[in-house]
Amino acid sequence: MMLTKNFVKNKTVFLRADLNVPLRKGEVADSTRITAAIPTIKFILPNCKKLIIASHLGRPKGKPEKKYSLLPVKKELEKFFSDVGFAKNLNNIPDNKIVVLENLRFYSGEKKNDLAFAKLLAKTSDVMVNDAFGTSHRKHASVYSLAKLLPTVPGFLLEKELKNLNVKKYKKPKVAILGFAKLSDKIDIVEGLLNQVDLALIGGGAVFTFLKAQGYSVGKSLVEEDMVKVAKKILRKHIHHIVLAVDFETKNHEIVPFNMIKRNDVCLDVGPASVELFKGALSKAKTVIWNGPLGVFEKGFDKSSEAIAEYLADSKAKTIIGGGDTAAMINEFGLKSKMDFVSTGGGASLELLAGHKLPAVEVLKK
Ligand code: ADP
Ligand code: MG
Repeated sequence: MMLTKNFVKNKTVFLRADLNVPLRKGEVADSTRITAAIPTIKFILPNCKKLIIASHLGRPKGKPEKKYSLLPVKKELEKFFSDVGFAKNLNNIPDNKIVVLENLRFYSGEKKNDLAFAKLLAKTSDVMVNDAFGTSHRKHASVYSLAKLLPTVPGFLLEKELKNLNVKKYKKPKVAILGFAKLSDKIDIVEGLLNQVDLALIGGGAVFTFLKAQGYSVGKSLVEEDMVKVAKKILRKHIHHIVLAVDFETKNHEIVPFNMIKRNDVCLDVGPASVELFKGALSKAKTVIWNGPLGVFEKGFDKSSEAIAEYLADSKAKTIIGGGDTAAMINEFGLKSKMDFVSTGGGASLELLAGHKLPAVEVLKK
C-alpha cells in the first residue's frame, strides 16, 4: 500500500516521524529531520481530519525528563504550520488540526514494544503513516506493534531513504568512513558493513577501542573496555579492510601520533596525517558512505571532518551521509547540497547498508 489522498481522507492520522533532533539550550539545534518530514505532513494535512505527530527524542529512561521534551519540536513545526497543539499525555489530546505528542520514550512501553502501549496509541487514530526512517531498525511499539493494529503505509521520507540507501546498486570501490562515538552502539552492523565495503576508515570515538585492542595506550580518550575483545576479533578478520586514524588532536590542541598518546591525553579529533591518509583512500573510491563525525565537532573539534567533507564535495565519488550528528555537522559546514544523499537515519541507514532487514519496514509488507 502507498500513501494516497484516499488513505487519509477524513481520518485521524497517526504520523510516526523521526523528529529526534539535537537540542541546544532548549531549542532545536538542527532541523534537518523536521524539514525532511514536511513533504509527508503537507500531503496528509489538507486531506485528513486530524494529524497526530509522534516521535521519540534522545534517550529518556521510560519516564518524563524535561530536557527530552518534544515541545521545542512543536515550536519548530509552528514555523511551517498553524493550529499546532501539544499533548502532554495520551489522555489529553487537544482539539487542534495538528497535535504533537510528547516524547514516546517517556513511556516504558515504547522501547519494550509493549502491546498494551501500542493499543493506547492506536486508540488515538484511524490509520498510521510511518515516516520514521531513523527508527525503522528498532522493534519499538510505535513503529512495530502499532503497524499491526492500524492500517499503515510508509511515508515519502521512508520511501526515499530506502531507495537511496540501496548501496548494492552503487559502484565499487566502496569506502566507509566510520566515526561513531561508541562501538557498542553499532557493533552489530559494523561486521555486516565490513562485508559490503572495500575499505573502512575509522576515526571518531570508536577508534580508541580498536587502538586499545592493538595494545596501544589511549590515555583518557573514550574507550569501551568491554568491547576491546570484540574489536580485536574484528581487526583480525578484516585487517585488510580497515584503516585506523594515525594521529590525534588532544583537548589541549596538541597533535599526537597513535603510538605516543600520553597517560593524561584526551583525544578529541583525528589529526592532519589521518586526514591525508583518509583522502588518499577516498581518492580511489567510487562510492563513499560516511557515518559518524571524526571528532567532537560540537565542541569545535571539527577540522578533520571539515577537511574530509570539503574533499568529498569536490570528488566525483557518490557520497552518502548517514547519522543524525553527521548530517547536522555537514549542514553546519554548509555542504549538504554538495553531497549525493544525506540520510536522516543513523543506525537505520547502517543496518540497511550492512544488508540487514529493518523490522519496521518488514512489518509493513505483511
Ligand atoms: P551519528 O549520530 O551521526 O550516527 P554518533 O552519535 O554515533 O553519530 O557519533 C557522534 C558522536 O561521536 C558525536 O557526539 C561526537 O562528539 C562523538 N565523538 C567523535 N569523536 C569523538 C572522540 N574522539 N571522543 C569522544 N566522542 C567523540
Ligand atoms: Mg548520534
